[in-house]
Amino acid sequence: MEWEIVIGLEVHAQLVTKSKIFSGASTAFGADPNTQACAIDLGFPGILPVLNKEATTMAIKLGLGIHAEIAARSVFARKNYFYPDLPKGYQISQFELPIVGKGYLDILMEDGTTKRIGITRAHLEEDAGKSLHEDFNGKTGIDLNRAGIPLLEIVSEPDMRSAKEAIAYLKALHALVRYLDICDGNMQEGSFRCDANVSIRKKGETRYGTRTELKNINSFRFVERAINYEVERQIALIENGGKVIQETRLYDPNKNETRPMRGKEEANDYRYFPDPDLLPLVITEEQIAAVRSQLPELPQQKRQRFIDAYGLSPYDANVLVSNRATATYFETVVTTSNNQPKLSANWVMGELSAALNKANIEITDSPVTAEQLGQLILRISDNTISGKIAKSIFEALWNKEGDVDHIIEKRGLKQVTDTGAIESLVDSLIAKYPDKVAEYRAGKEKLFGFFVGQAMKESGGKINPQQLNEWLKKKLA
Ligand code: ADP
Ligand code: MG
Repeated sequence: MEWEIVIGLEVHAQLVTKSKIFSGASTAFGADPNTQACAIDLGFPGILPVLNKEATTMAIKLGLGIHAEIAARSVFARKNYFYPDLPKGYQISQFELPIVGKGYLDILMEDGTTKRIGITRAHLEEDAGKSLHEDFNGKTGIDLNRAGIPLLEIVSEPDMRSAKEAIAYLKALHALVRYLDICDGNMQEGSFRCDANVSIRKKGETRYGTRTELKNINSFRFVERAINYEVERQIALIENGGKVIQETRLYDPNKNETRPMRGKEEANDYRYFPDPDLLPLVITEEQIAAVRSQLPELPQQKRQRFIDAYGLSPYDANVLVSNRATATYFETVVTTSNNQPKLSANWVMGELSAALNKANIEITDSPVTAEQLGQLILRISDNTISGKIAKSIFEALWNKEGDVDHIIEKRGLKQVTDTGAIESLVDSLIAKYPDKVAEYRAGKEKLFGFFVGQAMKESGGKINPQQLNEWLKKKLA
């Protein structure tokens, strides 16, 4: 039987405000437990929450980034439930009237086309505290520093049809919130969390199947694995005559499986009602216009510009714009290399990115500056050095041995382009290997590579490859 996979994602993005969404307590990561929770976060009697204006601005930014309607009037609501890390007994969220309405993101598909993924809504809410189950000898510790940290929950339509599409959407959203400077995107620290809703249905069926919601997935790789595991589980279940039940499941990365966590609660279980302590949030056209005027170029626009202006493939453009620092680095390389976009893209995505990964360094801390890499590419394109030599110069740049021209000079790496020198090297090889020459002339054309190899060896890789080929062809003929 042919099954269709249906996925919708709920993403919680932690906003990078200095203070909490309804109090003045600090949001800095890594402080000692319970040193950053104030009376408001703890819900003491007599306290009143005050909305953080910066959090509102950030929500507007996201709304504009996904081409959504920003609500002129939205309402905070109490979501009531008991949990030890929620001392107030309710979480302040938004329910019927969220700040951001319907929008979309266009994701890049493998064939280079784009697909539009609908976004249902995004709303502001406060985070809960954290229960710590380790290190307490069978007891549970509670850290309330996270209580009251602003979150933006971004809910997608069930528009994705494979784990790969879900990852593409998640990465596009991840890039967007970082371009907008509203979230640091750190999945390990939980600043960008994803719940995946997964169901299957027979191909051609128009109604959706029953979904499960997968929690606790803290990397792109795990999102893909968790979805794939869950799809296989649902298919096996249904094909064996069973039924999927709507529930929340926990993903276990160590066992690579999902297991039931709790039955799915319904919205009315939470007894949502408008929070009487907070006025409705009113946003004016002027406020929206002010935020709009400050938006940077966003990833989708940048991707299109890289395709149009530099002739890059959609895939390359997409990789390069995935974070702003990489895109900026790339553009500096293009400028310094005197406009060699394709070579620049190859070097940034290849040699540089591999070296950064290996050393676990961010591109902003790269030992090889964008100007240096641009200079290196310039020297490849003006035939001063070969691509192969360039790799050794890259290593020298990485080790801070000076600038490109200095390294070329010091190590005597300049490519041999002097016709006389190349001709006499070819002559000497022909004299040195008469047997091979004879075999070549008798039709063993593979031997051409042997002569190229010998020439490169004798010249220390410095000979200009095109010129060498021409001379070899001429003399071996
Ligand atoms: P809740 O808040 O209870 O989780 P929502 O209606 O807000 O419920 O939906 C949450 C997410 O589930 C959305 O991202 C939506 O796209 C997705 N979703 C809804 N129905 C399905 C389905 N049948 N299969 C997969 N995802 C679904
Ligand atoms: Mg949900």
